[in-house]
Amino acid sequence: NKMPSILITGSNRGIGLELVRQYLAQGWQVYATARHPKTATELQQLAQNNPEQLNISQFDVTNAEQRHALMTKLKGIPLDVLINNAGVYGQNNASFGNTDEDKWLETLRINTIAPMKIMEAFAENITLGEKKVIASISSKMGSMDDNSSGGSYVYRSSKAALNAVMVSAARDLKSAGITTVILHPGWVRTDMGGSSGEITAQQSVE
Ligand code: NDP
Repeated sequence: NKMPSILITGSNRGIGLELVRQYLAQGWQVYATARHPKTATELQQLAQNNPEQLNISQFDVTNAEQRHALMTKLKGIPLDVLINNAGVYGQNNASFGNTDEDKWLETLRINTIAPMKIMEAFAENITLGEKKVIASISSKMGSMDDNSSGGSYVYRSSKAALNAVMVSAARDLKSAGITTVILHPGWVRTDMGGSSGEITAQQSVE
């Protein structure tokens, strides 16, 4: 009869914030993380309205110290689901001839390496949970097959590598009973997706 529980990264806006909203509405215990919780006003408002159900932690997903602090805070707590949602589009104008190594590496740290480190950090909590699901929000733009337009070297490669990471984790964690999934959220009207996106965050999360 216990509430199912979920850990969501990048929860202050966009798809992450909407994930928090809908899991709260479904009665889940939500552990939400954000880089700057103090200025995450909508998330804070949700916490005020659902003090028992929503817990907020500061977590820049590339910050190992903050990751360790979150591990300590959640030690021994069962998590049913982990969603790696935090992500960036990265260098905006990475056309052929204009790619920037440092910006590329920064995007890989956020979109690819951080989800791996977070899986490694919280797999134990997931094994204690009932549903045992680890999901990463990837993108159709990481697909080889879907790449007809070219460009977006940085973002595409970060999500393609994320997909490879998730497939290996699916194999490695199968014996622990963990289900590992990659999700494409659709083209969503968020800061990243822009105003021409095809669906709202609410529709995407539903
Ligand atoms: P937004 O730009 O609206 O939100 C991105 C979120 O990620 C913010 O909460 C942001 O926090 C957080 N974030 C970025 N960098 C870090 C970091 N280093 N540490 C912690 N949090 C971080 O994007 P969306 O909501 O649209 O995107 C969510 C996910 O969906 C991403 O992984 C994206 O790649 C993916 N996606 C989105 C699509 C779309 O059409 N919108 C399509 C396909 C995939 P902060 O406010 O502090 O920057």
